[in-house]
Amino acid sequence: MQATVLVVDGIVTNRIMLKVQLSAAYYHVVQADRMENIVTLVRRTQPDLILTAMSLPDGNAVALREMLAGEAQLAAIPVIAIAMQNDRSAQMRALAAGIDEVLVQPVDDRMLQARIRSLLRMRSSVEMFRNPAQGPDPSPLGFGEAAAPFAQPARVALIAGTAVLGRQWKAALQARGGLRYALEGNADIATLMTAPLADAFVIRIGPDSARRGLDLLADLRSRPATCHAVLVAVVDPPDVELAAEALDRGASDVLQAGFCAEELLLRLAVQLPRKALADRLRDTVRDNLRDVVRDPLTGLFNRRHAMPRLAATVRAAATSGEPFAVMLADLDHFKRINDCHGHPAGDAVLIETARRMSAILRPQDMLARIGGEEFMAVLPATDLAEATAIAGRLCREINSRAFTLVGETGIGVTISIGLVMGQPGGTEDAEGAAERLVSQADQALYAAKGAGRNKISLVRPAA
Ligand code: GH3
Ligand code: MG
Ligand code: MG
Repeated sequence: MQATVLVVDGIVTNRIMLKVQLSAAYYHVVQADRMENIVTLVRRTQPDLILTAMSLPDGNAVALREMLAGEAQLAAIPVIAIAMQNDRSAQMRALAAGIDEVLVQPVDDRMLQARIRSLLRMRSSVEMFRNPAQGPDPSPLGFGEAAAPFAQPARVALIAGTAVLGRQWKAALQARGGLRYALEGNADIATLMTAPLADAFVIRIGPDSARRGLDLLADLRSRPATCHAVLVAVVDPPDVELAAEALDRGASDVLQAGFCAEELLLRLAVQLPRKALADRLRDTVRDNLRDVVRDPLTGLFNRRHAMPRLAATVRAAATSGEPFAVMLADLDHFKRINDCHGHPAGDAVLIETARRMSAILRPQDMLARIGGEEFMAVLPATDLAEATAIAGRLCREINSRAFTLVGETGIGVTISIGLVMGQPGGTEDAEGAAERLVSQADQALYAAKGAGRNKISLVRPAA
């Protein structure tokens, strides 16, 4: 989908020029000539980024940023301000007010485009978690996003190129306090990926080390351990081409005029909470996904996950040529446990059963709770002798030691197991094959119950 950029500028020729530039880069452009009614316009057009003149007919970029600060969703829109003069203190004030970038006229087109791309990339890493069903509600997937304070002091790795320069940077930053620093003399990716990982990497890109710095940015951005880190490029001496390239190589932010502790801290103050928010959203999504496949009582996989996993094992066996085992295990007379000791005691027995069975099974095996007191185990690459031995150990692990419940004397528990061997075969209908195996294991389980419980029963499927 085309991203929308809102251009705010009192000078019509500036607006036209930007519109031409941005439309050519395939952005949808919305325009405004002043701050008046800007909140309504932003709400209605939902821009992905705002590009505003630093000074406006009825205010300035900082005032505009503040007008958007009241609503989480509007406050999250990145803002680039374009200033007429290179006024350093005005730039610092703008960064402190939460403006993402200040560019000075005449703006280099490559730099502008690279900055827009990097901010949109950052924005989409948060926006992808927003639940469209919630409409204008700012909380993605039901979780508030407004405040995202960093839990502990952030770790910042300084890759200055030389140890001397690294120490200078560190001293200048520490004089201002607030962050915990790790000093990195070299730019060795293996060292940088060693725990404890930094939250932010600050990398000098100088004429002597431009290639190395740019490669390191791309490398850090691509590695699972560091791909969500804040990456700040320090272009020293200033070089607009290198700054633009650093952004396109994955930098979250760039110090265009060389190292400046004040500017770096202002930029980190925006970037680090943003990273914390994105991290939290990812964790939430991961937890929610885990809930989809897990049984909340025992933490085992649930039935919904177990059946596709079994079908996948059927397919894998066809490739590997190795047999596999499927077991259905059902606690014996479990209703009595509930009746005699209460439902919470029954729950505790289920949890302990899951724990004991998991301890016997191997890492490659899958154990699921597929019904009230019924479990399914899938054992890939396992022959009949191994499967029978493991089923025996499962039975003994349950029946050999009483289950001790809080406030109760030990309860004797037993389990019955139906076992079926899966043979490598065709893969046309792995789901159908999985269903058939479960139904055969269920018949075996029924036979084990009929034979007096606390037993294993085996089906040998027709070849
Ligand atoms: P059998 O040896 O033939 O398997 O007898 P059983 O009593 O184990 O089997 P039955 O199917 O008669 O009873 C199963 C009981 O499991 C009934 C149900 O209340 C109980 N149950 C199902 N899910 C849960 C649960 O999550 N927690 C508890 N505490 N009990 C559960
Ligand atoms: Mg039972
Ligand atoms: Mg049952």
